[in-house]
Amino acid sequence: MVSELFPSEESLFVQVALAKPMRKEFTYAADPEWAQRIQQGSRVSVPFGRGREVGVVVGTAHECDLPASRVRRIYDVLDEQPVIGEELLELTRWLADYYVCSWGEALAAVLPAALKREGGRRKVKVVSPAPGIGPEELVSLEEKSEKQYRVLRTLLEASGPLPRTELLKRLALSPSPLQTLVRKGWVQEEEIEADLDLLEGAAAQPERARPEQLSSDQNAAVEAMGARLAERAFGAFLLHGVTGSGKTEVYLRIIEQALALGRGAIVLVPEIALTPQTVGWFRSRFGDVAVMHSRLTDAQRLIMWRRVQSGELRVVVGARSAIFAPVPDLGVIVVDEEHEPSFKQGSNPRYHARDVAVVRAQRSRAVCVLGSATPSLESFENAEQGRYQLLSLPSRVREQSMPEIAVVDMRGEKGSPLISRVLETYLREALERQEQAILFLNRRGFSPTLWCRECYTVVRCAQCDMAMTFHRRHGRIVCHSCCEELPPPSACPTCSAPGLRFLGQGSEKVEETLKALFPDARIARMDSDTMLRREDYEETLAAFGSGEIDLLVGTQMIAKGLDFPRVTVVGVISADAALHLPDLRASERTFQLLAQVSGRAGRADLPGRIVIQTHAPDHPAIQHAARHDFAAFARGELTQRRELGYPPFGRLLRVVIEDQDEALVQATAQEIAEALRQHLDPARTAILGPTEAPMALLRGRHRHHLLLKGPISNPDFSVARNLLTIITESKSRPRITIDVDPVHLL
Ligand code: ADP
Ligand code: ZN
Repeated sequence: MVSELFPSEESLFVQVALAKPMRKEFTYAADPEWAQRIQQGSRVSVPFGRGREVGVVVGTAHECDLPASRVRRIYDVLDEQPVIGEELLELTRWLADYYVCSWGEALAAVLPAALKREGGRRKVKVVSPAPGIGPEELVSLEEKSEKQYRVLRTLLEASGPLPRTELLKRLALSPSPLQTLVRKGWVQEEEIEADLDLLEGAAAQPERARPEQLSSDQNAAVEAMGARLAERAFGAFLLHGVTGSGKTEVYLRIIEQALALGRGAIVLVPEIALTPQTVGWFRSRFGDVAVMHSRLTDAQRLIMWRRVQSGELRVVVGARSAIFAPVPDLGVIVVDEEHEPSFKQGSNPRYHARDVAVVRAQRSRAVCVLGSATPSLESFENAEQGRYQLLSLPSRVREQSMPEIAVVDMRGEKGSPLISRVLETYLREALERQEQAILFLNRRGFSPTLWCRECYTVVRCAQCDMAMTFHRRHGRIVCHSCCEELPPPSACPTCSAPGLRFLGQGSEKVEETLKALFPDARIARMDSDTMLRREDYEETLAAFGSGEIDLLVGTQMIAKGLDFPRVTVVGVISADAALHLPDLRASERTFQLLAQVSGRAGRADLPGRIVIQTHAPDHPAIQHAARHDFAAFARGELTQRRELGYPPFGRLLRVVIEDQDEALVQATAQEIAEALRQHLDPARTAILGPTEAPMALLRGRHRHHLLLKGPISNPDFSVARNLLTIITESKSRPRITIDVDPVHLL
């Protein structure tokens, strides 16, 4: 201990970034003989408090202005070569400043988990039901232990062993119910070698022929980007084109050019669109590519990371966090479906991968292309202002017309059916012609919400205040926020009136209605209840693709990126749920959703028909979506946003305060608001709130929030960042979260 505290005079001092919420780096001393090995970007193991932590060296010096007695010694240097290069070091420094976190926390978002601890594990623990264990044992658990019941049910429904951590994370359970089942001999645990790529060997990977000729619009887009690439200059482009207009082909061509120049590429897609289909397109053109998604095990992620860093794999296709892939000499960054809110990380650091993409491209003199059929209003406005170059693909490649869209006013349907007469007719016709249909709804479960027809109360979770949904398969109501499951109440919890009714429609109920209407049709359902594993998703899609399924019913999962030539009818069961979200972007999201869903019909030679069912047929988002008129929608919406000073004309910073103790939450929220009021210029920056958040209770915590709203470049925001940092660091409770550029306000 003593020698650790008093470094010798020739000591080398290093600045180490640790994944701690304190926004500073920590100084340590290192033996001089380590001088060669300690470089910026190397990992070191250091004492911290009473424990031991892995951190990244971000600076070195031969002198230190701290008293020597306060400088502790590094335990070990973990790398021969720096694991983080200069480019990513600088990017994470920016990330930390912008999104208000420590450098170490930003680095933690970049490093694969296996590199964040000492030593590396290459094995993964998986669990599965023991042989002979089946429905009987499951039923016997139903009364005895709900948690064990859920574990066993999930394992029995899975088509193979599940990684242990993934299972527990999914069910939000502690390990103990699983351990009990293992002890009883009902569930078996084993360690397996982490396989390299979960997507490999899955459903057949589609080929995508390289078209001989690009359309003139595609050519113009590729040339504009290629010019920047050749000059090694930064360029940001917004590629606006409807689904089927050939955007993916444009991405493939510009990546070809980057590879020919010896440079690499990152392609970001929403996690949900990261299917074998998408990956297959890139593999069929470029050979092996690195795939990075949330379901990789730690070992798989580490292997990918190393193969990318060494330059062996030059193309990375992945979800949000792939923006930090260590691609040497990055030439192109593609963000497909750039409007997707899932590019924003929901935990610290709360970065937006699209915005990081533009910043990283700028720093690396790379080309960044943001593609979408329905650009975010932020990107659209950036293009209008000339900050991004707009590239348009106004028509579909195969000269198909856009599908015809019928808006059905459900207020005119007798007996409030799930399927309107129009939709029923279209489905019948499609089935007669042996074509396929997709029915979309954005809720899950059987008749999700319980609702009292006397007092209009909806049954909510006592913990989270979220509407609970009824799941018939196990006869319970479930909270999708904290995973609480309960038997359904027989009377209204507020007014005690008997006979609660179901509000809204779940995919199970739609599936049932369809079975009744079309007894001969082959129907499949796809939502996060039936699709626990990626394999389930792939199998259903493969069956749909090969024509073994006629009607596919599902949630958001089926709204993206799928390309099925025989789909001629798409029905949106209700557009209303999205419209009524408490969110400033509810209209924008509804428009995007409808546009995306319509892109699923008539992709090949058959014309497509879309039916949108709604109780609000005159809403601009629905009207403009029905006319495929993004520009008109965007203009109307932008006018409103400008008036309100909302993004993209202003910026938001959200502070969420949460704790079990509501009085503490309220007091802290007031204190923060007061401190901000004292330091910010009210003529420039509005302080909205504090008030209860729309999701007022989450996992037993009361939530209040406040919003800062001000112009795009605003010195108040840096003042606020620093102030909030000081306040946050001075308190252990309540939890204070700072969300810069929030994508929702729930
Ligand atoms: P998007 O990404 O905009 O939805 P895609 O790039 O997937 O559009 O193109 C839609 C379809 O058109 C794909 O099947 C693709 O192979 C085909 N395609 C794209 N560009 C061309 C082209 N220049 N010539 C012929 N077919 C093309
Ligand atoms: Zn809950």
